[in-house]
Amino acid sequence: MNKRPFILKGNIFVNNYDEYIIGKIVKNNNVEDKSIYIQVLDMQHLDLFSEGYKGYIFEDKPINLDLKNINYCCNINNYETLIDNDVVEIVNNEWIRLLYRDDSDDNAIVVTNQCNSNCIMCPDADMVRNTKENPDIKKLLEHIRCIPDDTKHITITGGEPGMLKHNLVCLLRECKEHLPNTDFLLLSNGRVFANTQFTNQIFENVPRNFRIAMPIYADNESLHDEITRAKGSFEQTVRGIKNLIDKKIDIEIRIVVLKKNYKQLKQITRFIVKEMPEVKIVNIMALEMTGNAYKNMEEVWINFDEIKNELYSACIETLKAGIITNLYNFPLCKIDERLYSISHRSITDYKVRYKEACAECSIKDECGGFFNSTIYVKDIEVKPIMIEE
Ligand code: SF4
Repeated sequence: MNKRPFILKGNIFVNNYDEYIIGKIVKNNNVEDKSIYIQVLDMQHLDLFSEGYKGYIFEDKPINLDLKNINYCCNINNYETLIDNDVVEIVNNEWIRLLYRDDSDDNAIVVTNQCNSNCIMCPDADMVRNTKENPDIKKLLEHIRCIPDDTKHITITGGEPGMLKHNLVCLLRECKEHLPNTDFLLLSNGRVFANTQFTNQIFENVPRNFRIAMPIYADNESLHDEITRAKGSFEQTVRGIKNLIDKKIDIEIRIVVLKKNYKQLKQITRFIVKEMPEVKIVNIMALEMTGNAYKNMEEVWINFDEIKNELYSACIETLKAGIITNLYNFPLCKIDERLYSISHRSITDYKVRYKEACAECSIKDECGGFFNSTIYVKDIEVKPIMIEE
C-alpha cells in the first residue's frame, strides 16, 4: 500500500514569476537534461549540487552554496519519501504537492474541481466543486510533460473535465504526443459530448489507448436528473454517449448504486444493452461516503445486504449481452459469490480499509474492502470467509 504524503511542508523560497514550479524528481544524483527536473539532495550528497535545475529540495539549508537566484526548499517534512521520477509542484512559500507517484499505477490528473452537475452522492463537497481556483492549462501541460513516458496508466478527472472546453482538446493532444504508450481513462458525466462539433475535435486528438467512463444512474430522465440534480442531464449524457460511439471511442458506463436507484438496477443494465450495445464495459460501483454523499446520507445510503439480489440480476443482463461487467468498491462477503470473478480491488491504495474481523478472512487479498469514508458510516457487519487448507 502506498501511503506517501501528497503535501509536504517546510521552508520554501521560489523566485519564479509564475509562483509555482512543476518538475520531475532526481534524488542524490544528476541528469543531463535538467530543464524539467527538481534535484533533491540530502546532507551527504551536497557535492552533487549542479546549477540549471528548475528547483532544489535540500535536507537542510546548505551553508556553502549561493542560493540567491535559485528556487529551493529546505527542512521539508517527509522530503525523504520522494523518489526518482515522481512529479511535484512547488507552490510559492507554501508547500510541495505530489502530482505523480512513480511507484503507483493509480495516478490521476485532476483538471478542474468544477462541474455542470451536482450529483446527490458526489464524493466532492459543494465547496470543492465551486472553487474558482482551478489549475491553469499551462500548469496541466507542464504536469503531463514531466510524467515518465513509460507510465502505464493515467486517469484524467475532475470535477467535470468537459468544463475545460477547448483546453481539454489541448490537454488530450499533449497526452497523445508525450505519452503514446500510456492507457488513459477520462472520467466525465458525458454531457459536453452531446455537442457533435466538440466530440469531433476530441476524436481528432485522443491518445491511442483511450477510454471515456460516463455515468447512467437510471433508465429514464426523471430519476437520472433527480440524482444529478441537473435538468436535461440524462438526455445530454445519452446523446453524448451515442456521439462517442459513432466515433468508435471506447466507452465505459458507470452505475453508482444508491438508495434511489438500487431497485432499478436491472432496468438500467437492460437499457444499456438495448440503447447502446456497443459499450465496452459496464462498471457497477458502491458509494464513497464523502462530500455530498455524506451530507445526503439518509437519501443515498443503502446497506450492501439490500442490494445483493438486484446487483446479481443487473450483472446477468450485461454479461449475457457480452459486455464486460465489473463490480467496484464492494466487499466480497456482501455480494453473491457467483459475482466474485467480476469484483475488483478497485479502491485507491491510500483509501482502502478493512474491518478488524477481516484479518481472519481467507479471501482478504482478493477483497475490494471499504473506502476509509464508508467503513464506519453505518454498522456494516462483515462475514469472514474461511476456506479450509
Ligand atoms: S470479511 Fe472482510 S476481507 Fe473478507 S470478504 Fe468480507 S469485507 Fe472482504
